[in-house]
Amino acid sequence: MPTVRALVLDSSRLNEVGVPDNDVRRLVPRTDAVLAEPELAEPLHRLGRALVKRAVNDAQRRVRAGELAPERVTEATLDALPETAAPSLTRVLNATGVLLHTNLGRAPLSAAAVAALQLAAGTCDVELDLDTGARGRRGRGALGALAEAVPDAGAVHVVNNGAAALALVATALAGGNTNKEIVIARGELVEIGDGFRIPELLASTGARLREVGATNRVRLADYADAIGPETAFLLKVHPSNFRITGFTSSVPVAELATLEPPLVVDIGSGLLAPEPRLPAEPDAATVLGQGADLVTASGDKLLGGPQAGLLLGGPGDGAELVQRLRRHPMARALRVDKLTLAALEATLTGPPTPTATALHTDHTTLRSRAEALAGRLRTAGVDAHPKDTEATVGGGGAPGVTLPSAAVALPERYAEALRKTRPAVLGHLDGGRCLLDLRTVSPEDDERLYEAVRACT
Ligand SMILES: *Cc1c(COP(=O)(O)O)cnc(C)c1O
Repeated sequence: MPTVRALVLDSSRLNEVGVPDNDVRRLVPRTDAVLAEPELAEPLHRLGRALVKRAVNDAQRRVRAGELAPERVTEATLDALPETAAPSLTRVLNATGVLLHTNLGRAPLSAAAVAALQLAAGTCDVELDLDTGARGRRGRGALGALAEAVPDAGAVHVVNNGAAALALVATALAGGNTNKEIVIARGELVEIGDGFRIPELLASTGARLREVGATNRVRLADYADAIGPETAFLLKVHPSNFRITGFTSSVPVAELATLEPPLVVDIGSGLLAPEPRLPAEPDAATVLGQGADLVTASGDKLLGGPQAGLLLGGPGDGAELVQRLRRHPMARALRVDKLTLAALEATLTGPPTPTATALHTDHTTLRSRAEALAGRLRTAGVDAHPKDTEATVGGGGAPGVTLPSAAVALPERYAEALRKTRPAVLGHLDGGRCLLDLRTVSPEDDERLYEAVRACT
């Protein structure tokens, strides 16, 4: 609670500028006095003076506006302080039913990955061999774990994200002055999101694109006809965020692998092995087994890890290709930091990720959670009921696939209030109701969800 010191006024200054004795400004606690409150010592240490002062000044403004009692300035300051010194990022509970929500940062990291990342945030032996005292191989843990997860890979490398992996391949094999071509099907000229397009990314490296086939159909002969001395590699891109249906055909990896040039396959989502819940989603092990020389993928989609670009070479020429990429000057510009390496290693070696758990939870479990939560909310006077829904994987993969799910349905007006509460809750609107889909909410967060809804009532 605020003490008397918080109420020390700078009356001399108010006198100088001629503020009347009964003016509310005389009651506003001075900034220095509030900052000296013992309750603010810990936040000052954790968040720094600028952020705490901003919160004090906001509280003072509310006193002047008559919205806050002067003796509650310290309390209001504490309430308004951000969770961390990165106040632009707010914790959001993802109740959208979209597992990999790009606007919410795609895959949430596992507790194991967060712990590893926190350790690495200090000084650590990222490039040092503590046994010998000599320089150690950067990323050996993460790369070792990735190689172990895909035993058929001849060599592996990790860069900043999926786009960086493609950029490195295109630069090293077909970019700059090489005057080489990348052969790619017209139906695979994908826009990733936010206006970024794979063909433009590839072309920006100086590589030339040789487009084959029509938007909906391409045959092996189209590729074969396009191959010449200028071909650097064939690129197959998984349409991970859209689906073309109807009169369509594309060429399977195994058939493309029979052609002469190296075959690079961008699988997008980062599955390393087949995922029974998503039978149509490509995975690195299978694609390498079908003869691809190089596979590229993202780390923060279905792999459930940090943002990263995975490069996996096949057992033969693929291993050599990866070595070439690793040694290319551009590799240094695209390399990942120690935080990514730590989180990726823990993702690969640790317990199942939140993304894997969200994918595998059965509908009965979700339905029981929705019933329990809705029941408690009804007891608290909220118009809530359980509702069966369909969750999706999201832009990160498996377009068109739905996962049976369950939600708590609330009146529509809750959507905005929940977005503005802290931690924020993002649901989705359906048929005039605000749905909180539980497939994308960790069971440990059900209590937070309950509290958030009550706070908005
Ligand atoms: C997501 C995706 C990318 C881009 O990966 P980022 O990690 O977002 O850079 C490239 N190709 C495909 C097929 C994708 O699905």
